[in-house]
Order: sequence, then C-alpha cells, then structure tokens
Amino acid sequence: MDKIEHIGIAVKDLEVSNRIFEKLFGVPPYKQEVVLTEGVRTSFFESGPNKIELLEATTEDSPIAKFLEKRGEGIHHIAFAVEDIRSEMERLKNEGFVLLSEEPKSGADNKWVAFLHPKSTNGVLIELCQDKE
Ligand code: ZN
Repeated sequence: MDKIEHIGIAVKDLEVSNRIFEKLFGVPPYKQEVVLTEGVRTSFFESGPNKIELLEATTEDSPIAKFLEKRGEGIHHIAFAVEDIRSEMERLKNEGFVLLSEEPKSGADNKWVAFLHPKSTNGVLIELCQDKE
C-alpha cells in the first residue's frame, strides 16, 4: 500500500459542506461526481498534498445514508493508493481481512476501488484505490 490517497467524510448536505470546506481550504472542490451504483454524490478538495472526499447519499438505502443514520456526519473511510489493486486485494484476503467485494469496482475520481470491511479493521472502513489507466 502506498500513501493515503484521500479521506472520505460523510455529510448530510453536500452544498452546505462544500461551502465549509471551501472556506477551510481556500479553494472550491476540483471535482464533483455522482456514482449512481454506490448511491453517492461526491466532492473532492485538494489542499497541498491532501485530498478530502465529501460524500452525500443519493438514495435512502445508500451506504452513506445508513452510515449517517448509525454514526452521524464524520470520517467515513481512509483511502490508500495502490499500484495493483487485484494483487493487493488478494494479499489482504490471504491475511484474513474481509473484502466488501470480490472484484474492484469503478469508483469516483477515475479510480478502481475496493473496500475492507470495518469489522476486520478496528471499525475503520479502508478503501484501496488504483488510478484507471
Ligand atoms: Zn473514497
């Protein structure tokens, strides 16, 4: 695994949170994107080497809606950049981590993504992401 690629934050209202993070970083989001298959609308902010992804639910049964219900707004996941997502998924599976999908999925910001179940990582949802070529 390489560096932290971004930190994902679950928010109730993306427009409200966009304004907060725009003030915090002094720049608007560089990208906004809907990932229909995941039921999320996202904004990405960049500040120096750091990236923050804000996530809003687009449907009531979206994983983000469930997260907000259970835990409220806040840090949702930590994403690590990987060079080869399939081999990293295989390695982590062999180490006993629980993956949320067998195959990488197409995620936001032009990435292949996969998640580790928070039950196997001390309550923290971990995302692996690989740049799409
Ligand atoms: Zn993410």
